[in-house]
Amino acid sequence: MSLRQVYQRPAVELIGCADCGLVQILPPVPVDAVAECVRCKRSFAPPARGSIDTALALTIAGLLLLLPAALLPLMQVTAFGLPRRNWLPTGVEALWNDGFGSLGALVFVFSIAIPFIYLAVMVWVLGGIRFGTAAPLGRLFRWASELRPWVMIEVYLVGCCVAYTRLESIGTVQVGVGGWCLLAATFASVLATLKLDEQSVWDALPPRSSPAALKHPISCGTCELMIDAPREHGPCPRCSATLRRRKPDSMRRTLALVIAGYLLYVPANLLPVLSVERFGRDDPNTIVSGVHELITAGLWPLAIIVFTASVLVPLLKLFGLTLMLVMTRMRSRKWLVGRTRLFRFIDRIGRWSNIDLFMISILVALVQFGALTSVRPEPGAIAFAAVVVITMIASRSFDARVMWDRADQTP
Ligand SMILES: [Zn+2]
Ligand SMILES: [Zn+2]
Repeated sequence: MSLRQVYQRPAVELIGCADCGLVQILPPVPVDAVAECVRCKRSFAPPARGSIDTALALTIAGLLLLLPAALLPLMQVTAFGLPRRNWLPTGVEALWNDGFGSLGALVFVFSIAIPFIYLAVMVWVLGGIRFGTAAPLGRLFRWASELRPWVMIEVYLVGCCVAYTRLESIGTVQVGVGGWCLLAATFASVLATLKLDEQSVWDALPPRSSPAALKHPISCGTCELMIDAPREHGPCPRCSATLRRRKPDSMRRTLALVIAGYLLYVPANLLPVLSVERFGRDDPNTIVSGVHELITAGLWPLAIIVFTASVLVPLLKLFGLTLMLVMTRMRSRKWLVGRTRLFRFIDRIGRWSNIDLFMISILVALVQFGALTSVRPEPGAIAFAAVVVITMIASRSFDARVMWDRADQTP
């Protein structure tokens, strides 16, 4: 059964674009066709890419595989005749024991807690649509959509790959059963996301947008349902989100977070993020020196990935959001479509900056051979994690529709 069979799109539908705010009439969309916003080119109805059964099966598989991934050893490194094993929670514990409790908590939340909750909620929602349960699926799917940017198992997996190559210079590394399960769980959950588009799930959940012109049209910021609401702040009948015409105080909040991001970006790159002790000698590593080490080892592809994720992506987010704030303030009409596309892009890529943080949690847990070789976290890692989280919240606080509103106010 495909989602398109669960819900047949009505002949015409009124839709409010979540990126530019334009209220427009969506004609019937043929299967395998894409409907785009006439103004900002946001895709409203991508072609059906898979069935709900496939997405449900893959999500259940991801959830079941995540359990052994969290409970069985991910990696084992043998150096100086001593074996050291690492589980998903040991990285968290090692950071905690080294006095970096906040970093441990972040790693726990992003790599264990949120992926579990997200996959469990998705099984509930997709199973509910498939088998027709009476649960408040709209509200549950809103929670899942809000959690999605913070699900970082695929980012954790890349962090494992970077840690693996760095560990090879210390000793013999073996991937454990938990590691293979993590790989399979990530593969299943990414495939489930690719097989399912969010809009099709919303379309399968009642009520549906009215095809008639509305007196006081308001578009839900989460599920994009168009409703007639003379006042803001009521609950959306589909997903229970608070109805608002625009995100509250979006410009001021984003500006404050961007300034905090710039201030923290300096110590995040200048201070060491980890320290390697070899035969009693301390060797502090910054993000850039870690990249340099990968280049020296001839690992160019990994060096490029880490440099892009840790150095370029946070900068791109900060500069991109600054450009949007300045041009919105100036009520500029320039590059509105390009700026909206850039906003969508930076909102999606931010979480990839966590690769280095996850790599540190793995190295700190595994490389504990006393005075022979030990790795411990350094304060730069806290500044770095703060930049990543703050820039992610900044892009989520920004309301792209305000760029279009302000441009429309230009005389
Ligand atoms: Zn639009
Ligand atoms: Zn809604």
